[in-house]
Amino acid sequence: MKIYKDIKLLCTYALFKKLIDIEDYDYAINRLTNLLQINDYFDIEVQYKDVKEPSVLLDPILDYAFGLGLFSPNTISKRDQFEAQIMDLFLQRPSCLNEVFNQLLIQSPIYATDYFYSLSKKSNYIKTSRISKNIKWKSITPYGLLDVTINLSKPEKDPRDIVLQGKDNSISYPKCLLCKEQVGFYGRDSSPGRTNHRIIHMKLNNEDFYFQYSPYVYYNEHSIVLKREHEPMKVTIETFKRLFDFVDLLPHYFLGSNAGLPIVGGSILSHEHYQGGRYRFPIEDAKVISEHTILDVSIKQLYWPLSVVRLESKNRELLIQMADKLFNFWVNYNDIEAGIYSFTKAPHNAITPIARKKNNLYVLDIALRNNLTSDKYPLGIFHPHPENHHIKKENIGLIEVMGLAVLPGRLQNELEIIKQVLTKHKVQGEEDIVHKEWVEYLVSIYNDEPIDHFINEQVTLKFVKCIEDSGVFKQTKKGKMQFNKFIEKLLANLAQ
Ligand SMILES: [Zn+2]
Repeated sequence: MKIYKDIKLLCTYALFKKLIDIEDYDYAINRLTNLLQINDYFDIEVQYKDVKEPSVLLDPILDYAFGLGLFSPNTISKRDQFEAQIMDLFLQRPSCLNEVFNQLLIQSPIYATDYFYSLSKKSNYIKTSRISKNIKWKSITPYGLLDVTINLSKPEKDPRDIVLQGKDNSISYPKCLLCKEQVGFYGRDSSPGRTNHRIIHMKLNNEDFYFQYSPYVYYNEHSIVLKREHEPMKVTIETFKRLFDFVDLLPHYFLGSNAGLPIVGGSILSHEHYQGGRYRFPIEDAKVISEHTILDVSIKQLYWPLSVVRLESKNRELLIQMADKLFNFWVNYNDIEAGIYSFTKAPHNAITPIARKKNNLYVLDIALRNNLTSDKYPLGIFHPHPENHHIKKENIGLIEVMGLAVLPGRLQNELEIIKQVLTKHKVQGEEDIVHKEWVEYLVSIYNDEPIDHFINEQVTLKFVKCIEDSGVFKQTKKGKMQFNKFIEKLLANLAQ
């Protein structure tokens, strides 16, 4: 039977990748045959060259399981759930992984994260083959080189899954996708499979947090840090302490928090969490417009599409105190001319803080945010404006704040058509209606330069507009004066 060969190939893969030892091999075969409801097994000779990457090896096994009725319908999310259960057979228990991680951490934080990241890929929790389909590029802009990714790895919802989700009322456990109870959770119709999901316990600011990788990896070693309790996002002085505790523990990583208010926050506000990773984001290379020092903390005003203040110091405690003062100053800051009202019926001013370490220097970038809406801008005044929604209309979260655009998968096809219009392989008007005005503009400026480069650059410039829209002080003469006025008042406040 072909399934015996498929089982052997997968167990051999696990052995090669050191997910299991030779002593675990028969045990793994038996657990897998049991999961597939097979009571028998024949050892069939396999070729080393056939031990390919996990997605290739798992496909025929998933087909077999579906044929047997072990899951249904045959959608990507249902296959992913069953696949997570298979790969979990080759993983150690969460407690063992925590022990290994902490042992490695004593030797080197890099060893610890390398081990966990590599394990997450080998177990196909991070689906490298799917992620490699993401389209990525960098383009030069007035703010320096920015990153763009068109996300094709997060599977779009299958209509059959949406029907099942509508029937699913049991949403009390786990409370959300970020809850620690997702560890090993098989999943239900409305959630992804997490049987092979692992989290590492960490004490940050003397509170219990968990560290995990994002399965969708928007950038290298994209991580999530979540609170033990299912509590809503809230930025306070404790946030800064947690962020710096994390970068003290893993100095090669950054960690940032989304704002705690809707519109300017991330997509999940119901569970306190942060995002980090090992990646140099464009904001790190932003030009500094002005620099001042108070006590041992330098306060830098950045040239960036959003309004960002950078605090730097070797003195962690002073920096945290200064950050808290800045935060409180901003929370109550009003500038009627700039359209900034800190409070109407609810508070509107918020921040997106991002922490990292450069040798012994602590760095905290604080993006100033405001979530006010108006009749003209019901989705947010400081949010991508309607004329830019054809590229992105989702919230501008901390990843975008740092200069990486995460754009929707639909753009892959839509941009191809626009390229064909520009190179006259299709007639103008064949593009998606949402891009009509943009295409008119592109046709007027396109001058037969290499088309891929041209489109990438233009998409990036559109993204710049989206994040400029989200900036509280605009990149105009007036906006710059308003930002300067804020800095002046801030400095006076910090010096007190
Ligand atoms: Zn939760």
